[in-house]
Amino acid sequence: MNRRTFVKTTALGSVAFGISGLTGRTKTHILTLSFDDGFKNSFYKVAEIYERHGLSACFNVIASGHLPEFKGVDNWILPELMGNFEDWNGLKSRGHEVMPHSWKHLNLTKQPLDKAQALIIKCLDYFESNLDGYKASEAVFNFPFNASTPELEAFTMSEVLAIRSSGDSPIGQIPQAQKSYRKACWSHGPENIDQWVEEQVNQFLKSPGGWMILNTHGLDNEGWGPMSTVYLETLIARLVKLDQLEIMPTGKVLQRSIGN
Ligand SMILES: [Zn+2]
Repeated sequence: MNRRTFVKTTALGSVAFGISGLTGRTKTHILTLSFDDGFKNSFYKVAEIYERHGLSACFNVIASGHLPEFKGVDNWILPELMGNFEDWNGLKSRGHEVMPHSWKHLNLTKQPLDKAQALIIKCLDYFESNLDGYKASEAVFNFPFNASTPELEAFTMSEVLAIRSSGDSPIGQIPQAQKSYRKACWSHGPENIDQWVEEQVNQFLKSPGGWMILNTHGLDNEGWGPMSTVYLETLIARLVKLDQLEIMPTGKVLQRSIGN
């Protein structure tokens, strides 16, 4: 199963994108591995692998994942696997990106609009209160299940810099001075995704360039569609040697494009 996702800027972001397109960028390809849900062990392992190469990882966490009221989601997002905001603040202080991935991982398209909106605000408020240095103007809201509606997208984009949800194209443009853009990518599961990631990356590298976001989850046995630790180590070590490629978290790509 493939799930397609995209990132869209807010109106606020769109204005900002018009101000500066000077990125100083010489590389043609940007890859973001966008790790969802908040698996404590996996996220620490990912952070260590990235840090070996001086990279920042992209983590998206469920706001209530560590609270007693969180009951888990399907067979994959189990309460006992989730980290808390001490973990997330620690990882952020080490240079990684931590972004909102909903209050409790409901499919928001299946909720009444007002309830879905309230859940989004609850998530963002929790981030504001508990994630050190959190700024809505820099945040990317990652829809659970990459499921959204035009109404939910518009609402969320009025609250944060950008959103990630469903879309059509696997590779989009690197953001520059432009009014708006859409960035697409896929996720895959529930089985191990090493081979799938390898294929996506190799196809991307053969392309003229752009920004590819693969929505990944945990490592080894954690989460829907996990990658193996050994594969991730090998992949990153190989990719950092490529002249044309950068590995960056989503928010950093967006911030750089607006000159921050
Ligand atoms: Zn998720």
